[in-house]
Amino acid sequence: MDKCELCQPPVYPIVWKNSKFRIIEIDDPSYSAYYRVEHIQHIKEMTDLDESERDELMKVVFIVESAIKIYYKPDKINLASLGNLTPHVHWHVIPRFYDDNHFPGSIWSEQKKFKKTKISSQVRKNINSFIIKNLN
Ligand SMILES: [Zn+2]
Repeated sequence: MDKCELCQPPVYPIVWKNSKFRIIEIDDPSYSAYYRVEHIQHIKEMTDLDESERDELMKVVFIVESAIKIYYKPDKINLASLGNLTPHVHWHVIPRFYDDNHFPGSIWSEQKKFKKTKISSQVRKNINSFIIKNLN
């Protein structure tokens, strides 16, 4: 699949990576502190990974979730693995608030309003430092 977006170098900044996975910070004006954990190789399903790799991937996802929870304190964090358009293993880690643009639907549901979020540079820095510290 040569048109796979996730097989290309990411357009968003890479917060952390190793030989198998990378964490991207998505620049979404309505969802600050939105991260995506991606497998670097073009692998379609979680069950195409061996058990240890699956565990390792989820550990990365949970570190990102913890960092967001501790430093950004959203009302809820959504973990989503869809990949219908991009069949390449990746997890979305999305902070959600009761007054965000898609509440109570997923961020891919119909948008209810057009509010922007803004995270402080200190909170951003704390999240990214926590991720890097806990994964290195
Ligand atoms: Zn791919």
